[in-house]
Amino acid sequence: MSEVLVLVDHADGSVRKSTFELLTAAARIGEPVAVFVGDAAAGEAAAPTLGEYGAAKVLVASDAAYSEYLVAPAAELLAHLVTERQPAAVLVPASADGREIAARAAIKTGSGLITDAVDVAADATASKSVFAAAYNSTAKVTAGTPFIAVKPNSVSAEPASGAAAVESVSFAPSDASKTARVVRVEEKPASGRPNLTEAAIVVSGGRGTGGDFSPVEALADALGAAVGASRAAVDAGWYPHSHQVGQTGKAVSPQLYVAAGISGAIQHRAGMQTSKNIVAINKDDEAPIFELADYGVVGDLFSVLPQATEAVNAR
Ligand code: FAD
Repeated sequence: MSEVLVLVDHADGSVRKSTFELLTAAARIGEPVAVFVGDAAAGEAAAPTLGEYGAAKVLVASDAAYSEYLVAPAAELLAHLVTERQPAAVLVPASADGREIAARAAIKTGSGLITDAVDVAADATASKSVFAAAYNSTAKVTAGTPFIAVKPNSVSAEPASGAAAVESVSFAPSDASKTARVVRVEEKPASGRPNLTEAAIVVSGGRGTGGDFSPVEALADALGAAVGASRAAVDAGWYPHSHQVGQTGKAVSPQLYVAAGISGAIQHRAGMQTSKNIVAINKDDEAPIFELADYGVVGDLFSVLPQATEAVNAR
């Protein structure tokens, strides 16, 4: 069976859920092989968990260049692995880094890349959700090795048995790839909430909050959700830009997206339209967000959100 390379998404060795989703998708095409780029000990430690989601092997590449420089060394590594192992496909998380690594590696190997896939079939055909989730399109790479960037939360991760034998990869990235250094900047102290682009539930607030995000945060905490914001709320300085959802913010695709006091402008939709279930709370019954919502509540968010929070907490 042909190998399918899966780029492991991890934060200092802690593997993100999106990787397990990719392994499940990879198993439909061939034998999942995880590519762990980072510290060798962390890669070894992650191997059993990767095996529990079907990884037959874990290739660990631990050159210091991967953590010291931006994506170019990792892209060279991936291109090298594709040339050497001729996998049936390469799956990466549709994160900013994942997309860029895949794009650079695809160019180096004369391959095609499909971004923002929401599903992957056994023949490496990818589905994409387009026009405010009104249509699904399918795409297939016709040149080289298919590189597919899959959105988090699109495929459900299923446990599977894999041997997860660890192989260390010795590959030295070129000096040309070592140009843009990584600079680590501490964001504000962690809120304990999940990462916005990975969260299964996102509760977002807009201009309708008037700057008071406390009911949005309370519902998010009751649901174990991440907090998002519209650009109007971010531009007003009510919430950090790192939480902005939309065309010029982050793209999210959770199981549940709650939009409170958000009108539903096209640029906001661009970042959340592939959410599985959308709930809108808006006091204007003609707000465009209701065209997209699966469930809508016409009402004041300062009354609706606390009631929802109370109901969730009472469970
Ligand atoms: P508004 O459109 O002002 O809507 C506020 C809503 O809250 C209204 O529907 C109102 O009825 C409702 N409301 C008010 N009070 C309450 C209450 N008490 N209870 C319940 N409902 C209430 N926007 C993004 O979000 N993300 C982007 O990435 C983004 N990128 C952009 C890029 C470009 C190039 C441009 C031109 C625009 C971009 N925008 C983006 C801005 C976008 O066009 C909208 O202006 C923005 O999304 C509006 O934010 P909003 O829905 O919070 O505010």
